[in-house]
Amino acid sequence: MAQILKIDDALAGALALLKAGEIVAIPTETVYGLAGDATNGEAVARIFEAKGRPRFNPLIAHVAGMAMARRIAVFDPLSTKLAEAFWPGPLTLVLPLAPGADIHPLVTAGLDTIALRMPQGFGATLIGRLGRPLAAPSANSSGRITATTAEAVAADLGDRIPLIVDGGPTPVGLESTIVKVDGQSLRLLRPGGIAAEVIEAVARRSLLREPGAGVEAPGMLASHYAPAAAVRVGATDIRPGEAFLAFGAVPPEMADAAVAVLNLSPSGDLREAASNLFSHLKALDQRGAATIAVAPIPARGLGEAINDRLNRAAAPREVTTGRHQAS
Ligand code: AMP
Ligand code: MG
Repeated sequence: MAQILKIDDALAGALALLKAGEIVAIPTETVYGLAGDATNGEAVARIFEAKGRPRFNPLIAHVAGMAMARRIAVFDPLSTKLAEAFWPGPLTLVLPLAPGADIHPLVTAGLDTIALRMPQGFGATLIGRLGRPLAAPSANSSGRITATTAEAVAADLGDRIPLIVDGGPTPVGLESTIVKVDGQSLRLLRPGGIAAEVIEAVARRSLLREPGAGVEAPGMLASHYAPAAAVRVGATDIRPGEAFLAFGAVPPEMADAAVAVLNLSPSGDLREAASNLFSHLKALDQRGAATIAVAPIPARGLGEAINDRLNRAAAPREVTTGRHQAS
């Protein structure tokens, strides 16, 4: 069972666990978050594992201070104005990922944008001391209700995480408002702790709320993730010209036949495979093969989300881009 510590006693223990790549439930002003080092792929994979999320949707990276924020995302005058007005606080900004940002691709689900927020209180202190951003979705298992007390986190996730930091009931009790800054326009991706009208007053423009805008959020659109190469899942052989995304032991004849090989996890560890998924797909895509053949991935645990992502990449595409010919 998770240890539960009051915020005044929890800082050193939480820091040690986060530095070791573990995950910790922490109070924020919105709801309890399940936090892991956003630069560490295995830590981020642990978040998905503990929540039992069936797919890799992008996570919010939490920062302390504008210097850290600017190393991660590109701020234009409009996003700077919103950050100055509402941070620290329950506003999440979706911004272009900064070149060379030290953020693991599992946090952004391979997108070139990032959701950023600067929290108040214990989270801010923790991130400042760690010196690294924390990825932190709500601390509840997938499909369960969001937790706003340490007791609720313990009842749901207590047997899956080492530490819950108890800061009492969270003051806002709602998730953050998510706004995507798109040039001069602002889009409301998720209503939350700061009312849209308040944001509109500061930004001096209205928030766009196209139907379906939220779809963009959890990676519902296969096109966001589509590599230029075609993807063939469940591959047990290699056809001419294919690159190979392996898992576990690689049969020598498959290694020999492939134009390039990368292994998600030579030991067959799903957490390691999750943390390598986006970077390996991208790297193989950049090798220019027409098709990436992917070894079968077990459907248990994180395998469900890994297979979801791969099946999306393998799905027939409506628009033909890159080297892949829709069939
Ligand atoms: P949660 O995981 O509950 O904290 O929710 C995070 C929300 O932020 C989800 O709706 C995500 O899809 C959304 N989100 C995170 N990153 C992005 C991004 N780069 N673009 C759009 N939405 C994002
Ligand atoms: Mg949630």
